[in-house]
Amino acid sequence: MPKRVYNFCPGPCTLPYEVLEETQSELVNYKDTGMSIIEHSHRGKHYDEVHCEVVDLVRELLAVPDEFTILLIQGGATLQFAMSAMNLLTPDDKAGFVNSGHWAKLAMKDAKVYANVYTAWDGSAENFSRSPKAEEIELESDTSYLHVTTNETIGGVRLFEWPDIGVPLVADMSSDYLSRPIPWELINVAYGGAQKNIGPSGVALVIVRKSVLETKPRELPSYLDYRRQHESGSRFNTPAVFPIYVAGKVLKYYKEHGGVEEFAKIARIKSGHVYDAIDASDGFYDCPVQGESRSFMNVVFRMPSDKLQSDFQEQAESVGLVNLGGHRSVGGLRASIYNSMPMEGAETLANFMSEFRAANSK
Ligand SMILES: *Cc1c(COP(=O)(O)O)cnc(C)c1O
Repeated sequence: MPKRVYNFCPGPCTLPYEVLEETQSELVNYKDTGMSIIEHSHRGKHYDEVHCEVVDLVRELLAVPDEFTILLIQGGATLQFAMSAMNLLTPDDKAGFVNSGHWAKLAMKDAKVYANVYTAWDGSAENFSRSPKAEEIELESDTSYLHVTTNETIGGVRLFEWPDIGVPLVADMSSDYLSRPIPWELINVAYGGAQKNIGPSGVALVIVRKSVLETKPRELPSYLDYRRQHESGSRFNTPAVFPIYVAGKVLKYYKEHGGVEEFAKIARIKSGHVYDAIDASDGFYDCPVQGESRSFMNVVFRMPSDKLQSDFQEQAESVGLVNLGGHRSVGGLRASIYNSMPMEGAETLANFMSEFRAANSK
């Protein structure tokens, strides 16, 4: 086996070794066609199979009901900040936002271009250390939807309770897609970039309730119109063939390893190893996120000094634990432990943390 490290990068993230190996082995000659899948026509039978399999696997793994269409769109989650608003809201409509941190703020900023948006719950006063309970969210009258970020990748904050408060949700699930079941009865749109829990970057998985396609709030350029994407099976133009193809292998791997319920359980255990190392450290490691809101995907923590933090990162890297730096906007440390991070990676990190503390605390 070639050199592999435990890669705790928040995105693009580590992928299953088996997937990378299979991708490599097929790359030059796909299914004995004498060409690569990335050289095949996106309208041909081979790519069609790849594309449909991804859609089918998403439907199965996330138990997506027939009332929803599953779209694969370029532009990442970032394009969906705007696209969800422009497709769901007229300029006079209103959407509420749960301000849970960095990504929620960006989603709100772009939605504001197309409609009226307001903050329905604001985590800023508590330094984004938790997510809200449903009863804390304050909706204005005539709200079309509530936007939530189910996992704040930078702050390490998980939306632990899906708000069931009488308006549909639009959910940015970029960093915890396929790591938790989705209560579809509450959802109008779920979206996320692929590169955190689904595959390589270059495509977003966008799941839209078909009934919202029936109203057309404004004229839209074809690519940006969910209706057009739906009618064309996300193949209105050339799709992101390579990321979609690799995503299919990741999804198959998830299916073979027990599906979303199983990955939800494993995520709790893996992140639990790291939280245990933090909580047993007498304050040497400190996680700013409160109890239930602690992310199962991105474990954020700090140490008493910048010097210790840089020593930690350097020594971790020397033993193959890489990309543990916090986001440049907040500093500190962050271990991103997505579905494809093996259990052993989380255990190795937790052990390293205990050893580092023993060696560096007085
Ligand atoms: C990474 C991330 C985004 C941005 O994703 P892109 O696909 O790079 O546009 C949006 N929201 C959340 C929660 C993220 O983690």
